[in-house]
Amino acid sequence: MIETLRASGIRDLQVLAAMQSVPRHLFVEPALASRAYEDVALPIGHGQTISRPSTVARMLETVLAALPAERRGHAVALEVGTGCGYQAAVMAALFDQVVSIERVRGLHEIARDNLRPLRLANLRLMFGDGRLGAPLSGPFDAIVVAAAGDRIPDELLAQMRVPARLLAPVGDGQRQALHLVERTGPDAWELTVLDAARFVPLRVGTT
Ligand code: SAH
Repeated sequence: MIETLRASGIRDLQVLAAMQSVPRHLFVEPALASRAYEDVALPIGHGQTISRPSTVARMLETVLAALPAERRGHAVALEVGTGCGYQAAVMAALFDQVVSIERVRGLHEIARDNLRPLRLANLRLMFGDGRLGAPLSGPFDAIVVAAAGDRIPDELLAQMRVPARLLAPVGDGQRQALHLVERTGPDAWELTVLDAARFVPLRVGTT
């Protein structure tokens, strides 16, 4: 899997090491474990998927790219859309503190069970609507949204540190693109539209 990531252009050695350190087979159903290290999205129940490893690596490399080296060891990150908890575990290897929010209670509980054996003391899972962020845990150096909405919620933009990066897919079921937002000042956010993307929808409220 790491060779595939290198071949797909992932260069950040900390990201490659973090991806290598998390056993992805722990995050998929036993029947799919033999495919856990292929670069594919797989079903995790509740109509959701575990993201492709190359997508996880690309997103984390992108949010980390602008983070000053001395800040990496102290950085606080937010993930919206825990799913089965895989990306959250990778993020816990890259950031000092990680908060991850999931709106489907069944998945929040699956993630908790999947992550328990890894004993990641710097990762906190929250059940709730991640569109609202986690105001008491911010501001965040990095925010990664794992589901596509029609816009980036203002609450998330407000919870970015200065400077910070946010990555979120924006669009509907047919057309999505990854949006990169850089907060450069208290009142300054810069948007760059990156590649086309394919994520599950960002939904409102909890279930
Ligand atoms: N991060 C996961 C990807 C999970 S798929 C991984 O490592 O593979 C995206 C997840 O976002 C789904 O579990 C979905 O339920 C969740 N989601 C969608 N809308 C959300 C919202 N408003 N708040 C929190 N989670 C949400």
